[in-house]
Amino acid sequence: MRSMSEHLCPRCKTALTPSQVDDLKLEICFSCHGTWFDRGELAHAKDIALPDGDWLDFDIWKHSDRFTINAGPVNCPSCSKRLCRLQYGDTHVEIDVCPTCHGVWLDEAELSKIVEALDQEINAKSFGKYMKAALAEAVEIVNGPESVAREWKDFRHVMRLMIMRLFVEHPHLAEAMNTAQQSFSFLK
Ligand SMILES: [Zn+2]
Ligand SMILES: [Zn+2]
Repeated sequence: MRSMSEHLCPRCKTALTPSQVDDLKLEICFSCHGTWFDRGELAHAKDIALPDGDWLDFDIWKHSDRFTINAGPVNCPSCSKRLCRLQYGDTHVEIDVCPTCHGVWLDEAELSKIVEALDQEINAKSFGKYMKAALAEAVEIVNGPESVAREWKDFRHVMRLMIMRLFVEHPHLAEAMNTAQQSFSFLK
């Protein structure tokens, strides 16, 4: 198996740069500003102590039947299989998921859309300070000139938890993605 630092950006083929915040490891493309969330991070997700329990009520991916699965535009940086593109309901959020590796690729544009969806979700309900701070941080990241290079610890935790919940709480979706990925095998 290749070491993580040898992964190439699935979009622009630049070598990904490992980035660590506390126990959280990500791989970032400093050329196109995409981010790879590796499944290794998911194993620890349940152990994370967050300062505010309110995030538990947060789930922009609540209903399994609102997902659509299509072939994504890029292949998995870890196993080279075609990623599945997940779109949820009437949000504009689309994420590229590998059902084999349980990794998630987010390009810069997807990050902006997630922030937008979070913004709507958070404004529509009452969330605690933790989620609001994470969102404010995320907005700054997306709008800031040095976006990816900044510290954005809270938002990364939120993203990781969203990804973890995608697999843990939607096992049928994971299965459907697996089947879809197999049918994408003719794509290269
Ligand atoms: Zn790139
Ligand atoms: Zn993979």
